[in-house]
Formats: sequence, C-alpha cells, structure tokens
Amino acid sequence: MSDPVPRRLSDLEAVDLSRLRHVGPKRLDALEKLGLTTALDLLTFYPRRYLYRGARVDLSDMKVGDEAAILARVERSSARRTRQGRALVEVEVSDAGEQIRVSFFNQSWRHRQLPEGTRAIFYGKLTEYRGQRQMVNPTVDVVEGELEEGSRRRTSGALAIYPATARAGVSSWEIAGFVDESLRRAGPLEDPLDEEWRREWDLLSRTEAYWNIHQPSEPDMATKARRRLVFDEFVRLQLLVALRRRRLRSRESGVSHPVHPADLDPLTPVEDLTLLGQFLRAHPFSLTGAQRRVLEEIVHDMAAPVPMHRLVQGDVGSGKTLVATATLVMAIAGGRQGALMAPTEVLADQLYSALRRDLARLEVDDPRVLGERRPVRVAVLSARVKTRDRTGILAGLRQGDIDVVVGTHSLLHDDVRFARLGLVVIDEQHRFGVEQRATLRDKGRRASAEDRDPDLLVMTATPIPRTAALAVFGDLDRSTIDELPPGRRPVATTWIRETSEEGRVWARVREEVAAGRRAYVICPLVEESERAEATSAVAERTRLATGELAGLAVGLLHGQMTSAEKEEALTLFRRGDTPVLVATVVVEVGVDVPEASVIVIEDAWRFGLAQLHQLRGRVGRGEAASECYLLGEAPTLEAEERLGALERLADGFAVAEADLSLRGEGTLMGARQRGRSDLRLGNLVRDADLLELAQRAAERIADAGLSREGEWAAEIRTLIEPDEAEFLFRS
Ligand code: ADP
Ligand code: MG
Repeated sequence: MSDPVPRRLSDLEAVDLSRLRHVGPKRLDALEKLGLTTALDLLTFYPRRYLYRGARVDLSDMKVGDEAAILARVERSSARRTRQGRALVEVEVSDAGEQIRVSFFNQSWRHRQLPEGTRAIFYGKLTEYRGQRQMVNPTVDVVEGELEEGSRRRTSGALAIYPATARAGVSSWEIAGFVDESLRRAGPLEDPLDEEWRREWDLLSRTEAYWNIHQPSEPDMATKARRRLVFDEFVRLQLLVALRRRRLRSRESGVSHPVHPADLDPLTPVEDLTLLGQFLRAHPFSLTGAQRRVLEEIVHDMAAPVPMHRLVQGDVGSGKTLVATATLVMAIAGGRQGALMAPTEVLADQLYSALRRDLARLEVDDPRVLGERRPVRVAVLSARVKTRDRTGILAGLRQGDIDVVVGTHSLLHDDVRFARLGLVVIDEQHRFGVEQRATLRDKGRRASAEDRDPDLLVMTATPIPRTAALAVFGDLDRSTIDELPPGRRPVATTWIRETSEEGRVWARVREEVAAGRRAYVICPLVEESERAEATSAVAERTRLATGELAGLAVGLLHGQMTSAEKEEALTLFRRGDTPVLVATVVVEVGVDVPEASVIVIEDAWRFGLAQLHQLRGRVGRGEAASECYLLGEAPTLEAEERLGALERLADGFAVAEADLSLRGEGTLMGARQRGRSDLRLGNLVRDADLLELAQRAAERIADAGLSREGEWAAEIRTLIEPDEAEFLFRS
C-alpha cells in the first residue's frame, strides 16, 4: 500500500492535516492556532524537549539532591506573599501516592497555570526544606490528556514535548500521535544530499533526521537529527546566496575604472603616480598595513568590469574613512562620480568637511572643456541644504560638474540623478535598511546617463560576527581592517555602580581637560521622544556646569538642535572652546574628534551592547590613553552581563559575538517577524561550525550542476517565504 517513491518536502506541503486520522474540525482549529496546516508544517514543528524513559523517575525512587523529571498531578495550589514581599506559589503534587511540594518564587501566574487536577512534568532538583521534600522553580510542561495512553503507543525511547500546546488546546501527546502518523504515511523522503556527501560530512539521511528529531531512541540521536536539519536550514539560505553571487559575477555590467596598483606602493617614484597615489602621498599619515591590504582588494574590484560588491568591516577607529576616500579618488580619477551616504546629518557634515579638505587640492580633467584641468568638486546634500542650493547641486550632479556628493537619506530622492555615477559608498551601513541600500545601488544604474552598474562599497563599524556575516552577507565580498592606526591603546573601561563613586569620574574629566583634551558625557536614553531626551540633556548640562564640572566650558549636542547648531557645537568642541560636550546618542556613529580622551555614559544599562561599543569608540581615536566610564547600576541580569562584557572586552568582534549570544537568535533578520523559514533550529552562534560547513556545501552544490541544485531550489521555494528570499537577494 505504501508508496515507494520518495517524497519531497514540497509534496508534504500539499498534504492537508485534515487527512490525518483523528483530526476533525476542532483539532484542525487548534493545530491552525499553532500555525500548522500541512504535513510539512507538522514535521517541522520540533519538540521543545524530550523525556527519556531513563530520565523519568518515580517520586519514590528520587533522593534529595537528585535532578530529574517527574510526572505528577496537582493536588492543591495556593498563592501568597513571603515576608520579604516576594510572590510565592506553592503546589502540592503527587505521583503514585508520594507527595512533594513545588514552590515558585515571583511567578504568580503559576497559580493559574496549575489548578488542582492538572498533570504536568516537573524538571528540577529535589531539595529538602524543614523536613519536607520539595522542588523550587522547576521547569514545567503541562500535560493534557492521558500521558500513559500516549506513551504506551510509542516505540521510541523518548517522549517528545511540543511547545505551546496547552494554550492552543491540543496536547503534546496528540501532536506526537499526529506526527507519528505523518511520518509513517510520508514514507521515505527524497534526500537532495548524495549519500557520499552525507558520509563525508557525517550527516543523517533526511528520513532518519525527521524520525529522530521527533522520536529519538536516545539523546545522541536527537542531536544527530538536529545536526542534519540545521544543516539543511543553513544550506537553503547559503545556496540562495551562492546562486546570487554567481549571477552577479557573471555580469560584466559594471565600470572598469582605470586604476594603478603601483599607486599604493610607497616606493613608486612620484612622477609615476596617478591621482590616487598623489592623494595618498599628500595625506598627513600613511596607510596602515590593513588599510593598504583592503585598498589592494578594492583596486582589483574597481578595475574589473564586474560590479564591485564589497563590505569593509573594521572596528571603530580603524580608519575606514580613509579607505572610503581613497576609493572615491579611484572613481573620480577615471572621470566618474562618487556618492557617499551616511546615516546621520552630523556624520554627513563631518565627512563633507573632511572630503573637501582632502580632495579639493586634487585636479581632474574637466569633462566639459577638453584638455582643461579643474579642482575636484565636492557637495553635500542634507536636509539643511537650502532649496536654492539644492537645485544647483542637483543640476551639477546631472551635468557631471560635481564629482563627489555626500549625503544622508536625501541621496535616495528621485530627483537625484547623476551623469556618470561610478561608485556608491555607504558608511555605517548597518544603520540603513536593506531597502535603502538596494535603492541606492539600483539608482546608480537608472539615474546614470549610461547603463552601467556602479561599484558598491559598504562599510560597517559594528562588526557583524563572522558567523552571522557568513549567512547574511554571503554574497558580499568582505574585507577586514584588522589593525588600528599606530599608537592606539584600548579604551580602559570602568563600570561605576555606586553613585558615591562618581566623584572620581568627574575628577578625571577635569584632569583630562586640564591636560588639553576633551570629554563626552552621554545622557541617559529617554525612550518617549527625542524631545524628552533633549530636555534631559539640557538639564544635565546645567546640572554639571553648575555642579560637578563648575568652571569648565560645557557644550551641548542633541537631536532637536538645528543642523547649523549641531555643527557649531561640534566645532566648538573640536577646537576646545567647550572641552566638555554633553550629548545624546547623536554622537553615536562616526563622530571623530581625536583629542577626546574620556567618555562618561550615564545610565549605561539603557544602551545596547553594540551601541555602547560605538559610543566608547568616540574616544581612543588619537594617541592619548583613553577611558570610558559606565555609570549606574544594572537592574536586570541581562544588563549586568552586558555591562560586564563591555568592561571585559575591548575588541569589537568579541563584543559583537557577546551581543549576539546575549540577545539570542532571531537578531539576524533584525526586528523582522520570524517567518517559517527563519532559522527554527539553527543558532548562528552555537552552530557556527555547521554554518561554515553549509557554506562550503552550498558552493559545491552550486558547482555540481543543475540536477541537485534544482531539487534544492524547489525546496527553497517551498520553505522560504518569498519576501525572505527577496530580503536575501537584495541585501
Ligand atoms: P572609523 O573606522 O571608525 O570610521 P576613522 O576613519 O574615523 O575611523 O578613523 C579614526 C581616526 O584615525 C581618525 O582620527 C583618523 O584620522 C585616524 N586615522 C585613520 N587612518 C590612520 C592612519 N593610517 N594613521 C594614523 N591615523 C589614522
Ligand atoms: Mg567612520
């Protein structure tokens, strides 16, 4: 009767759950609440935990100090407050005549979860309190329906516990039954991975994997099953990325910029240098080894007719601006235009001043007057540019009179067009949405008079952990600036928990200012609005200027100031007229004042780890030893770990890894809804090895030719939501 033809996952998607034996309208409804409508949904609805026969013990066999799982019935439940005011729920449970007490602190909802008569599995340690055996704060799985009946049917050594079933009105045992039936009826599953490769990579077959994730004979088998299924999740994403990469690489639709690698060589005689070399020689400092290496990679990309698609990662302060500027020079040397997009106005203004300073002394051929040379022209397009000036700049870009434009999101406006756009650089790219990045790239082609794709260089200072980068940016080439400019020392970071200790922080600020350096004071993050935040910054400045920092000139910078005011505040700070700057997070990214040597972050726990690292990166940008002070207690354990991590870790990559593991999975796609295709089992940190294996595998599958690739492709279509695929394609 059974069908010998192996099924594909996409076949299972066509099987409606109403076809299962004991599934009527009521069950169907409950399953739908769990998001399950097809056999495929059911098979990919993974157990939260397993209860192995060996691990489940009768109460009578348990000794104090044992850690185990017991299945018991709630006899009585009561809720009260302890003398210290903590909520306490006490539940008497029994199993085969034996009784123990289970206590829950600060979980008053347990009273509702565990009314008399409820059966549940309690996982925890058996302790003794005043002669009575008890469990404190165990993990609980409520069991509805008959466990024994369900478990008798099972042949496997374990009972799978499925998530969130009680709420939907279907028991974990019923789910297990439905899964069992689906697995049987599905029969053998088609495996898109050849046996030879499975052996090489030590992976179960797909059929084995699905059986064992639901009905493992022993813990080891559940682990192996998970390994295969996580591998599949990663391979599908990586294959999407690999295919896209191939497509991009095969397109010779880009610009071949005339570049000369010798320009990067400090030994090349001056008379042999072209524009890039002249720029670098005139620059006040020489490239670090890492900057040179990254520029060599970029030179290679810029020369090729395939559009560049490169991510430059480098910790805060590693000197990404110089790399960006040099790349812009490569573009204008060949008579093309460059666009540089920054996430904030403060940063756009700063980049504009720096570019004007660095590029204005270079000369390029005037495209309008044959044989004439003229200085490089740089413009800025930000919200503060007056309408009249804006019109002029737009015309200049369209006619090719302006060589480089810096801007914020304003560069994305439809009316921004270029005559010969050859390069798009995006600074602090993690601050932009995927959409915005894609728009700017597409715009290059559409907005340009010629039909060529501009080269794309994206820079990020919040280093994406290597593992996450592999998954998301698999189709970007990556360069890493893994070296700081000479003389840099890590920023000494100290967490000051006690208000009484803050005095010494302000004393350090005074000492640094007296030594001619600068200090930032970052005001607490105020959630309600930017206005509330500004108000608090104003108050904090007054408080400090008349109290702790009386006698010092204290400046102010917040998001409610006009662009001109912001620029003024930063200029005064840069010059040292106001050596202390009380600021909100507007200084978070990119702001570069090398004389700053202290940063004080108030109520530090309110900031995320990546954000704290960025803020800390505002100092330590010159040769002076720098310090960062985190003020305030941590109200939660997570905050405690976050601030502790910043104190301990100096390197941005380590900070980013810590951030990812503290925040858990699901951060890869940002705040996006976790769709079905989002990693269900895979974890980017924990499964880093598998992710790398999957990347290699995806390359091999893509190389192996169409047949296998086609199978995976069908699967990707089934398992990855279209918008998710779109997301990956565009990123
Ligand atoms: P980020 O990577 O955070 O964007 P920046 O490009 O702003 O870093 O550089 C940080 C600081 O280091 C700036 O003050 C910059 O002028 C300086 N800097 C960059 N490259 C070098 C170098 N090769 N040698 C010395 N200082 C450098
Ligand atoms: Mg920068």
